[in-house]
This record gives sequence, structure tokens and C-alpha cells, in this order.
Amino acid sequence: MEKSISMPVSIYALGGLGEVGKNMYCIENDKSIIIIDAGVKFPGIEFPGINYIVPDFTHLKNNRNKIKALFITHGHEDHIGGIPFLLQNIHVPVIYAPRLAAALIKNRLEEYRMADHATIKEYDSDTKVKVDLFTVSFFRVTHSIPDSFGIVVDTPEGRIVSSGDFKIDLTPIGKDIELTRMAEIGKEGVDLLLSESTNAEQEGYTPSEKNVYDSIDEIIKNANGRLIVSTFASNISRIQQVLESAVSHNRKIAIIGRSMEKAVDISRSFGYIHVPDNSIIETEDVKRFPNNEILILCTGSQGESMAALSRIANGSHKDIHIIPGDTIVFSSSAIPGNGIMIDNIINQLARSGAEVITNSILNDIHSSGHASRQELRFMLKLMKPKFFMPIHGEYRMLRLHAEMAEDLGVKKENIFILDNGDSLVLSKGKVKRGYPVEHGVTYIDGKDINSLAEPVINDRRVLMDDGMFAITVSIDSKRNILLTRPSFYVRGFIDQGNKQASEELKTLLEDKIKEKLYSKPSFAELKLLIKEVAGLYVYRRTKRAPIIIPVILSKN
Ligand SMILES: [Zn+2]
Ligand SMILES: [Zn+2]
Repeated sequence: MEKSISMPVSIYALGGLGEVGKNMYCIENDKSIIIIDAGVKFPGIEFPGINYIVPDFTHLKNNRNKIKALFITHGHEDHIGGIPFLLQNIHVPVIYAPRLAAALIKNRLEEYRMADHATIKEYDSDTKVKVDLFTVSFFRVTHSIPDSFGIVVDTPEGRIVSSGDFKIDLTPIGKDIELTRMAEIGKEGVDLLLSESTNAEQEGYTPSEKNVYDSIDEIIKNANGRLIVSTFASNISRIQQVLESAVSHNRKIAIIGRSMEKAVDISRSFGYIHVPDNSIIETEDVKRFPNNEILILCTGSQGESMAALSRIANGSHKDIHIIPGDTIVFSSSAIPGNGIMIDNIINQLARSGAEVITNSILNDIHSSGHASRQELRFMLKLMKPKFFMPIHGEYRMLRLHAEMAEDLGVKKENIFILDNGDSLVLSKGKVKRGYPVEHGVTYIDGKDINSLAEPVINDRRVLMDDGMFAITVSIDSKRNILLTRPSFYVRGFIDQGNKQASEELKTLLEDKIKEKLYSKPSFAELKLLIKEVAGLYVYRRTKRAPIIIPVILSKN
């Protein structure tokens, strides 16, 4: 047999480094690219009108012929949510996903009318996939959604392991984490480990789902009135615990929110959630049962204004209104940046006479699905990697994770804290830094992949912070005279009620426009003048810079 020539492997992230969200890790050699995960990030309030943020796919587009497969670690949005947008840009021959994630992806693609865009194959712990020179295999981990896996990529240059999202839960609700298998993988030798860092700031161990279940059960058992539980639709393990405890305490369940209904439907039909049909009722039937026999499960734990919980809290939901004696449980920790929205909704709920439970293990960051520091150490000990790259975290989390690896004996020069777009090269079992690849972000407005340019986002930001100010001017463009006084249309801008200032600005504009008209200006020149005069005036008075829209009506 002829000896194969060395073909170095590069490893890079297009998303997921320096942030929690839009995970996308790529492994590439001269012939092929395989991708691990294709997630979205949810924009905070600083991105008005933007629904999703996904990685910039330019590098993948430029290398489209090399793309062989996408491997999904589990069914969370920050790992699968970018798939429709990726597939609108690039043909991916096959997507490998564990069972529940595969169901969620199929459902999502149907929503986008893209079901025929992808071949989805399910994998399990004993699946082995050969993609050119790469051999990919999987190990089961525990997380907050069933069917979560770590991924092993064997290449002629060495072995790469990616942890996926995990915690080490010894009393999980679903299947066990495959610790012995992980130890074997480590014993055989791991050249480069990519391990998630979300909870790298949390000392100790993340509590088991069993503890979380006991705490939910305690709340459900002790509540006297209706229970309203809100959580992420993606937190299937949590939904399962809530519903199963509700059933055991003879409560009927009403589910509100489209994403929540979908999640429960899919999970029930695949056997991940066990709830008898007669336990689930329609929202309009809630009033037919005594209050203490009702549990309402809904979306909106982050205070999102369009989600079910907000609509219930502000009285705009058609069937469900808050009544005194209701207990509302927030069952997920706040995503950074959402604090104000959540506080608003809690106040609204409390004012309506509900009891709001926010300080339980359920929304304690410790009880998330992610490994705390001891479990991260455990992963490092099991895998004993020669080279280490922390992933899935903001910079400070990656840094802490890197320090832990060093404490556990990974050589400092063998640890790489990367940014999106930076790359590593694995060659003959050695890892060093490589050339960066093209990277960036793409903003998605609605379901449209036609990404929005940064200036549009900036305009929206200005509109939100400083408002909008339209100035209409009528001129006779033949005779170059002003026909009427300028008129204003103002939105979301603090000074709008000030009559005196408004008259002063009108006069100022009138004078400047008349002066300008002598020189027979173009419309563009007039618009620029109006922008400058009004912009300066408003800024001097209010220290604000609203978007100024000059509108010129011309008679001739
Ligand atoms: Zn996850
Ligand atoms: Zn994740």
C-alpha cells in the first residue's frame, strides 16, 4: 500500500467563541470540510427588529465543493437554529443528528418550506461515519435536552474531540452519560479537545436533574391555586419534569405559545415526554376545572413582549388572565440583558395578585444544563488531551477554562484561546496556530436570509434611542421659492411637545432654505441643508441625534 502524504487539518469556529450562541465549528483539510453545529444567537434589545444572528457563511460559500457533512450535537437553538439559513446559502450533502434533534430540525425545515433541502440521518452512540479521511463517532452526554452527544473526529493527523454541551449528571432524567466510553476515548489518546465553557465561572458541580425535579414537585405539591410555569421551549428536560409532576398531582395541563406546543408535541410523539392525552386541555377549558387542578405551561420566561407570559400578564390573552392566588414560576435563568424586561413582567404579575417564584433552584444558573468547574475538570481528566481549545463561551469563560486545563497539567503553550475565524492546524499529532478564515455576523430580519446591512441596524438603534424627525418642505422648483412653512412629523423623540422650540426651528429652516434657493440647489443639496440645520439645532437643545428625514414636495 502506498503511504499517504500528510494532509494537515485545520480547526476553526465561525461562531461560538467569545459569545454564548451561534455555535459553528469546522474541521477542514485539502479535500473536505465537516461542520459541527449550526446555531443562532438571539439578539438582545440592542438589535431592534432583528430576529436572529447567524455566522457569516462566506468562507463556507467559497469552499462549497469541499463541504461534506454537518454534524449536530443536540437540538438546542444555539446549535441547530442556523440550519435553514445555512441551507439557503450552501448545499450540505447530509446532516447527521441524534434522534430528537433530527425531529426538531425536520420540523423547522418544514416551517421554512425547505424540507427537501436536506438529507437528515440519525446517529446514536454506536454509529460511525466515514467522510473522506475523517471518521466520526459519538458519545452520549447529559444536558438539559435528551439526546445530547459529544463528537470524536479521527483524522490521519490525529484525534479531535468536541464535548458538545454537557453536564455530568449521575442521576439524570433520561439516559446516562457514557463515562466509561469517554474514559476509553481518552485512554486511546486525544490530540485536541474542544470543550464547552458556559459555566466555567461556577465552582462545584451543577445539580442533577433529579434535584431539579424534586424542587419542581415540591412547588407543584404546595401550590393552592393555579400554577403558571414558564420556561424555554427548548428545555425539553425541564418541560418533561414539570408535566410529569403535574400529572402526578392531578393537575390538567394547558399549553400556551406556539413554540411550546410544538416542543411538547414532538417530544411526546417521540416518547421523550410521557403525559396521558386526557391530562392536556385546551386553554378555553381551563375555567371548567378547579384552580388547584390546573397547570399552565407557557413561553416568555425572558419577558419577551410577544410571548405567552407577557400576554397573560398584561391582560391581552384571550383565555387566561391572572387571578389572585395564581402562582407563577419562572423556570429558567435570565439571559444577560433581559433583566429589565423580566422585572417588568414580574411587577405586572405581582400587581395582579399573583405569587411569583423566581428564587428557586429552577432559575438558579447552577441548575442549568452546563458543566460547572468540577465537571469541566472531570472532562479534561477523562480525555487527557495533548492540546486544548475551550469553546462555547464568552472570553472570560474561555480564559477560566484554559487556566483550569493548565492547572490539570496541559502545557500552557498547548492551550489556545481563539476568536471566531482564528484557526488551528493539526498535523502529525501536533497543533499550532494557522491562518484566519473569513468570518463575521449576519443579521436576520424575520425569516429572510437576505441579511441586513450594518447601517440598517444602526438606523434602527438610532430610531429606538433618539427617535425620528421628518421635515416636510414645499417648494416651487421652477421659481425656486418656498411655498409654505416647513412642517414637522416627530416620533419617539423627547422634545416633540415644545411649541416654542418648534416655531424657532421652523423660522430658522425657512431663512436658511430661502437663502439656499437663490443658488438653485439640487434636491440633494436642499435635503443636506435641512439635515444639517435641524440636526445641529436639535442636538444643541437636547443632546440627541434623531434620524432626520427631509421630505421635499415640489410644485413643478
Ligand atoms: Zn445546549
Ligand atoms: Zn449550547
